Amino acid sequence: MTFSDFNFESRLFEGLDSMGYKTPTPIQAETIPIIKNQHDLIACAQTGTGKTASYLLPVMDAICGMDKRPPISALVLAPTRELAVQIDQQVEGLAYFTGITSIAIYGGGDGIGYEQQRRALREGVDIVIATPGRLIAHMSSGLVRLDEIKFLVLDEADRMLDMGFKDDINRIVRQVSAERQTMLFSATMPPKIRTFAKTLLKNPKQVNI
Ligand code: AMP
Repeated sequence: MTFSDFNFESRLFEGLDSMGYKTPTPIQAETIPIIKNQHDLIACAQTGTGKTASYLLPVMDAICGMDKRPPISALVLAPTRELAVQIDQQVEGLAYFTGITSIAIYGGGDGIGYEQQRRALREGVDIVIATPGRLIAHMSSGLVRLDEIKFLVLDEADRMLDMGFKDDINRIVRQVSAERQTMLFSATMPPKIRTFAKTLLKNPKQVNI
């Protein structure tokens, strides 16, 4: 299998070239067609497998194809600042030729960081990658437009639950359109993750790597 089997927008192929991705990893080969076919997804996958691009590529391809983009098209929730930054760096690399915009929203920064985040959330940005606590803080200011989001991703869902983010995630998800497509990635799949996934996903396809 090659990336050209996926019929992505040509500008996305330029991003793949510039990142040096030549062939899809196993999780990408399994996951990309599921997401492109607009199914919800629950995926058990470790870091290092290429899981990030497995959801970023079909989401970015869909955003490229939108006639009119909503204020925010995709929201990725991640447990830590480090992961949020890594995901944002992959978006920036892959999206370089597409004009897709993104921002990483996380706590612990200085006041200027907070203001920049606030402005991006108010004015709109295609892909928001956020830690749950900091996104809730911005939502309290009432300016974050999550209601037209088309894609919701929970990355490292097991770590987010272990870190006590369940209530924050539920509060965020309540603001997101029910028309969304939802993808949940987790390194482990204990019963508490499956139970949580049932409340968020609709008839999900399952992938195990
Ligand atoms: P991840 O599991 O998403 O954290 O990705 C692990 C590493 O693999 C990251 O540095 C990615 O940039 C890289 N990567 C993802 N997909 C591919 C691919 N198809 N070919 C080569 N490298 C990749």
